Amino acid sequence: MLEKTAGVSESMETPGSQTSLHRANLERVVRAVRMAGSLTQAEIARSTGLSAATVSNIVRELKDGGTVEVTPTSAGGRRARSVSLSGDAGIVVGVDFGHTHLRVAIGNLAHQVLAEESEPLDVDASSAQGFGRAEQLVNRLIKTTGISPEKVIGVGLGVPGPIDVESGTLGSTSILPGWTGINPSQELAGRLGVPVYVDNDANLGALGELVWGSGRGVRDLAYIKVASGVGAGLVIDGHIYRGPGGTAGEIGHITLDESGPVCRCGNRGCLETFTAARYVLPLLKPSHGPDLTMERMVQLAREGDPGCRRVIGDVGRHIGSGVANLCNLLNPSRVVLGGSLAEAGELVLGPIRDSVSRYAIPSAARQLSVLPGALGARAEVLGALALVLSEMGDSTLLESTLPAATPAFT
Ligand SMILES: [Zn+2]
Repeated sequence: MLEKTAGVSESMETPGSQTSLHRANLERVVRAVRMAGSLTQAEIARSTGLSAATVSNIVRELKDGGTVEVTPTSAGGRRARSVSLSGDAGIVVGVDFGHTHLRVAIGNLAHQVLAEESEPLDVDASSAQGFGRAEQLVNRLIKTTGISPEKVIGVGLGVPGPIDVESGTLGSTSILPGWTGINPSQELAGRLGVPVYVDNDANLGALGELVWGSGRGVRDLAYIKVASGVGAGLVIDGHIYRGPGGTAGEIGHITLDESGPVCRCGNRGCLETFTAARYVLPLLKPSHGPDLTMERMVQLAREGDPGCRRVIGDVGRHIGSGVANLCNLLNPSRVVLGGSLAEAGELVLGPIRDSVSRYAIPSAARQLSVLPGALGARAEVLGALALVLSEMGDSTLLESTLPAATPAFT
């Protein structure tokens, strides 16, 4: 049996001891800064619940250890100190697979994007080809930053479909047939040799907008993306909500009309059948030809085309019905519309707001703002960077500040 010896028992981190409390406070501050990018000391105090004096001491300690950087700034006209993680403490990589593109971004822990590039790719064709191209692009971009590949802490990976939480494979074989049976995070981790965190495109869009875009400063948000399908990423109290199976946010499949068109999920009249590109573009085929894309429809609507305006307005009203249900259930403070449809601005946002005020109970929608995404097509890849920042632990970051723990038992 192991016995404690008197000399080392004091360094044991029992819950409630000074040492563990101190470490917990360090972790709270690091986590707050890690997620926000940069915060003033007053903001750190607000978000962690620690006193201003404690925050000041902890920031000094983290700065001396090289974990954070402190730069002068101004907040509300007053001088303040902005705290961010040291840029050179590590780098993170984001990889986003869309249906027709591959996008990669390299960022540092201070939330600066150091390099970013996208290339066309038929992702559905072959998963092996997709991962090979991703590996090449990641390695090439890291090289352009001049930072050693050993500094990579983790990779965030976005895929255009729900991930089954238990198996780590894509939850639906009909969405990416070429990826059946593939575990995307294992596949990429095997090639790059670092931990890979994976999530679907809607969740990553939500994280990207939360950290860098239209969701900054809120803790409860729904990001809605309308493309070939319709999905939502839900942020509840600052965290992505995935549900036990990883399929939370499938707003595209709520029923709007029981006798409506048959959806790819097998039900009838899903929200998706009134809003997704594959269902709404054919409405304009007789008048606008067979080659119309979502992007072109939005552009024509902005130029005043009445048919495109009509379709986009209807899409907005239907999305608004879904958002009204979401408001009644979750009471989010912000809804961010992503994808190319967001470029339609008020042509789609106005009808969404109209439906929300019509169908949501007033108290659930009172504080709601409906905004276009600020990041456009970059939302997912920046969300992949944010995923690493949110999932990585703090122990590596605290190594330089805290002395290595002495073994409690000999
Ligand atoms: Zn459906």
